[in-house]
Amino acid sequence: MSTEPNTRQSDSGMLHPELLEPEDRDAIYRDGHRLDHAEGSSKPLRPSAEKQPRGATIRGNRPVDQAEAAARFIAAPEHEKMHDERLWDLRQKRDREMEHIPEWEELRSLASAIKEHTLTHLDEYLEQFEANARANGVHVHWARDAAEHNRIVHGILKGHGAKSLIKSKSMLTEECGFRHYMASVGIEVIETDLGERIQQLDNEDPSHVVVPAVHKLRTDVAQVFAKNIGTDPNNNDAHYLAKALREANRPLVLAAEAGMTGCNFAVAETGGITVCTNEGNADLSANVPKLHIASIGIEKIIPRLEHLAVFVRLLSRSAVGSPMTQYTSHFRGPREGGEMHFVLVDNGRSERLAMEEFWTSLKCIRCGACMNTCPVYRRSGGLSYGATYSGPIGLIIDPTFNQHKYSNLPYASTLNGSCSNVCPVKINIHEQIYAWRRVLVERHESPLAKRAAMKAAGELLSHPAAYRAAIAAADEALAYLPRFIIYNGLNAWGRHREVPHPPKRTFHSWYHATHGDEK
Ligand code: SF4
Repeated sequence: MSTEPNTRQSDSGMLHPELLEPEDRDAIYRDGHRLDHAEGSSKPLRPSAEKQPRGATIRGNRPVDQAEAAARFIAAPEHEKMHDERLWDLRQKRDREMEHIPEWEELRSLASAIKEHTLTHLDEYLEQFEANARANGVHVHWARDAAEHNRIVHGILKGHGAKSLIKSKSMLTEECGFRHYMASVGIEVIETDLGERIQQLDNEDPSHVVVPAVHKLRTDVAQVFAKNIGTDPNNNDAHYLAKALREANRPLVLAAEAGMTGCNFAVAETGGITVCTNEGNADLSANVPKLHIASIGIEKIIPRLEHLAVFVRLLSRSAVGSPMTQYTSHFRGPREGGEMHFVLVDNGRSERLAMEEFWTSLKCIRCGACMNTCPVYRRSGGLSYGATYSGPIGLIIDPTFNQHKYSNLPYASTLNGSCSNVCPVKINIHEQIYAWRRVLVERHESPLAKRAAMKAAGELLSHPAAYRAAIAAADEALAYLPRFIIYNGLNAWGRHREVPHPPKRTFHSWYHATHGDEK
């Protein structure tokens, strides 16, 4: 990789200063494109007066109001602009990397076929994985749900008298509410991923499956660190902040009595697991303490080692537009004098596997590409979904956990299909989101007002004469009605839109005039 001085107008002209300083001489270019990660720029920004918008308000089991939380995010223009551009930047990098691989579409098809084959033979591959892992000296546990997962891990830690655990990023443990559980039993959990640690210190969930703190400006991070590790609140230089956190975290890492990782791929034929990170933090969690516990969703199984080659080529390119994650770590057995445990977790996956319309969502490799491309996600922030998974894939997964609580989520999509187009394992994401809308309406889980409006629209659209009369009446009314009838606080539609001026003549009247009754 070569470094050349930044002497040209780069593709950064439109970017938020968070993403790139125009005069940044340290930026790295290749083929005319900037290579450094969006967060690599380190010139301090002026302190932001804008408060970080927080996520959805959770009220027990009441449906999460994603639109309300998204509106608050949009009302914070600094955050909204940075978030939108940072994720779009990742999407563009993904496109550039994809263009360098002529067999990209073949890889996607292959990855999809491997996953579908594995999921339809999941019992066999899980048993094979378990037998091989045991033969490698690994203790294997099975957890039906989140509570059982947490109890098992607690039991292992208790057996070793461990009171502190370092952990690399894992969406499965987020699903299980693992950190809260561990706090309730007096075990300290220290996240080793930078973004995840920021979120932990700020008492927030990750807002993205790959870049957990992507919704935060550096000025927000400076505030979090100032409160928690005593840094200068006015210094938001990325290198200063990263160094300060490393210095604060490293003693905790070295003193930890147990380590935990997630798992990107579990290979049935070897009984080993692969964890992909860009910070090498999984290696810290797995190698510093003698006890290593890995939480593995049962859908992470792939049959053979050679299949890994397909997935690792797709994963990082789709996620952040880099050819490879910085670290692709393989763990197959305990090191000398150590102990390794695999906890295989179902937590609703078997049930989802039986859902005819939604089972292929289990192919997901959590690359986040569907989130980076989604216009709704980019402008509303991951925490607005009020659920473990956000963005397009979240709209499919979350209702499988709780249809009532997440009944609004499938509407947080334009159904433009971009998510399906970028998905490296070819999940028909937008079609499944649409299917959820139908299912939720059938189960009376969609909002009453929406159901009533759709019913009225259905009636009108199925009676052409009534429809034409209504259109004519509406055109007439729009010309004379006072503005406040449409643009008032009670009409959410009118808050952000102007009704277009109706054409003088409708298509139907033109057709009738020029073609008569001809069909
Ligand atoms: S659904 Fe596809 S694009 Fe979205 S995170 Fe999963 S693998 Fe990536």
